[in-house]
Amino acid sequence: MAEVLLVCPPMTREEFFKRGAKFAGAVLPPLGIAYIAAMLEKYGHKVKIYDGIAEGGMIDDAVKLLNGCDIVGLSVNSSFAYRAKETAKAIKEKDKDVLVAGGSAHANTVPLDILKDHQFDLSIIGEAEITFCELAESIDKGKSIKDIKDEKIIKGMAYMDKDDRLFYTESRPLIQNLDDIPMPARHLLPMHLYKMTEARSSRQPCHSMMTARGCPFPCTFCYQDLYKKTYRTHSPKRSVDEMELLKKEYGAREIAIWDEHFTLVKGRVIEICKEIKERGLDIPWSCVSRLDGINEEMLKEMRSAGCEFIAYGVESGSERMLKVIKKLETKDAMRKGFQMTKSAGIKIRGYFMLGLYDETLEDMQQTIDFAKELDPDVVGFTLWVPFPGTTDYKRAVEDGTYSGVPYWEKHNVPEFNFLDNPIYVPKGVTKEQLMKMHRKAYRSFYLRPKYIFKQFAEIRNYDDVKRLYSGFRAIINNEN
Ligand code: SF4
Repeated sequence: MAEVLLVCPPMTREEFFKRGAKFAGAVLPPLGIAYIAAMLEKYGHKVKIYDGIAEGGMIDDAVKLLNGCDIVGLSVNSSFAYRAKETAKAIKEKDKDVLVAGGSAHANTVPLDILKDHQFDLSIIGEAEITFCELAESIDKGKSIKDIKDEKIIKGMAYMDKDDRLFYTESRPLIQNLDDIPMPARHLLPMHLYKMTEARSSRQPCHSMMTARGCPFPCTFCYQDLYKKTYRTHSPKRSVDEMELLKKEYGAREIAIWDEHFTLVKGRVIEICKEIKERGLDIPWSCVSRLDGINEEMLKEMRSAGCEFIAYGVESGSERMLKVIKKLETKDAMRKGFQMTKSAGIKIRGYFMLGLYDETLEDMQQTIDFAKELDPDVVGFTLWVPFPGTTDYKRAVEDGTYSGVPYWEKHNVPEFNFLDNPIYVPKGVTKEQLMKMHRKAYRSFYLRPKYIFKQFAEIRNYDDVKRLYSGFRAIINNEN
């Protein structure tokens, strides 16, 4: 049996959230880490998880948990790669023999960044569940880090070879039957610390889960390129088992399903809805979908099974930009999708982006106008960040609109801090203009008399009042 510590790099709430996000930012469980932990436990290994974001902790807090561990797995995203590297360094200083592996998007796309200074021994490429189990098994058999590297047997890894050159082992096939992976090891997570924002969910605790992985669409700003545009699902039974567990064991009053595209396979969605109703589960839930992935029959089933909110990524109100980012949806189709969803009695979260590759101020204004026309119940305007591995990152570096200077090497840049200092500014736009547009987008959407009146008219209980108050504070603080 190997002992494994899985870590989300520590970060305080002040570092993680800026401006209005301090009041509207959610703290979500690291389901990726919890899936790896569950698989390791299934094969008899001993696992601890330290979620340094939820705990708002310090690097030392992670190091203290090291006692006796054989392997440390660190989650590394571009937003906080700097902190992940600081944590790996502190861990190696405390115990140079412990195997330190980095996983997640940044470790996949720019493994050299985390490996070149030898704070990490390995980078996990692709899905990590089986790779971690094979690493744990090797360590359990008494193999050293050097043995593992020399053998080159374990698939899905990158590391520096003996000549200090980046070496990839054979690629790891994706897990075809997702039901082979046990449910996330939530018993190892600080479940009481996770919080969906009151602005987005009026019932706490609202717990998170996934019923599918991947998305086959080609949006150029999105990470899905990395995962080979595949789509794999849990069975309807397993999905509803997990919903039931969240309600009965973890006291969920609401469930957020975070699949990239929940409604892609309509027959499966209808089966899930039927299963929820047959079990009399009676819990509100939300999901994420594309507007071309719905129809009236399915929406009706979803509503009757408790679906309360659907989040749609609209991204842009400019037909030109929808083509540039390969959204493969038109504004008219989106209008119809919004109408259909509202008619089914399901609320909508609409997500839009500003500062996209090749975007003009005129395009951004069209996005703000389109958001107001569509009139979702909750809106989010995100500033685009050039994450390595995406098509738009490559396009922006190639045409010189993004310098390609690795922002993740200089300091911690958690997602919401980008609001104070946008990483990418499209050609012909200034940083000040972009930030002004971002503020204008929120203000002009939420401070409309029509929107305010609708929100007050929908107050039913104290939870609704709290949700409104929290949303209002977020808008006011977004101005500062
Ligand atoms: S539809 Fe959503 S998840 Fe799929 S590629 Fe586009 S942005 Fe990504």
